[in-house]
Amino acid sequence: MEKTVQLYEGKAKKVFATNDENLCIVSYKDDATAFNGEKKGTILGKGVINNRLTNRLMRLLMENGIPTHFVEELNDRETLVKKVSIVPLEVIIRNISAGSFAKRYGVGEGIVFKNPTIEFSYKNDELGDPLINNCHALALGLATEPEIETIKNYAFKINDILKAFMLEHGIELVDFKLEFGKLPDGSIVLADEISPDTCRFWDVKTHEKLDKDRFRRDLGGVEDAYNEVMRRLLGDTK
Ligand code: ADP
Ligand code: UDP
Repeated sequence: MEKTVQLYEGKAKKVFATNDENLCIVSYKDDATAFNGEKKGTILGKGVINNRLTNRLMRLLMENGIPTHFVEELNDRETLVKKVSIVPLEVIIRNISAGSFAKRYGVGEGIVFKNPTIEFSYKNDELGDPLINNCHALALGLATEPEIETIKNYAFKINDILKAFMLEHGIELVDFKLEFGKLPDGSIVLADEISPDTCRFWDVKTHEKLDKDRFRRDLGGVEDAYNEVMRRLLGDTK
């Protein structure tokens, strides 16, 4: 499958059309941003790592009954996916307090929740991806009630699958962001990426951060952390 025109360039990926109107190619960049694009940088090799990790995790989820946009890994940075209409909600699941949750509610990081939490942000860069609830999403026509219900069910199931898989590899799944899309037949599938850019990963024993917080917080060792996640989950550092 060949790329035709570029449809979109985002902060971390480019999206290209193909000869098949139902398929597109995502190309992962090394560009990194944080705080709604205010902080910019490069994480060398990130595009390759996020592409390969995302595809590994998408395959795992599909084997466990979650429909996704994944079709085929084309090369180290590029993947063929089903073209979807993205539901403009960032779906965030949390198992342990961190980041904006800790800040918003005035608690420390590292509180292990008895049950996972879910929240939605309205995916809108101009507004800074504001927090939104079900009723607001319905009022704005971002999704229907059954669609929101499906997304919630998938998100919690994805959490169960990913949490167990990460633990097998010595990684605590702290929190993560998902995006879902709609296929032409109206069905909902998991889209976008699942990577150290979009998840918080802590080493089980040392609680060392193995994700984008190293970039956001200038902790150093950013590339090493991404490589370590790839080594643990894919068994290599290519
Ligand atoms: P952002 O738009 O937040 O800067 P990216 O740089 O990751 O993010 O850009 C990738 C874009 O592609 C995102 O807007 C994402 O919603 C969108 N996308 C992800 N998967 C698909 C898909 N299967 N079909 C169409 N668009 C997709
Ligand atoms: N996240 C993301 N994209 C966003 C916002 C959050 O991938 O635009 C991920 C983030 O990497 C973390 C989780 O969602 O794993 C929860 O992020 P949080 O709300 O704590 O926000 P942050 O600390 O990134 O401001």
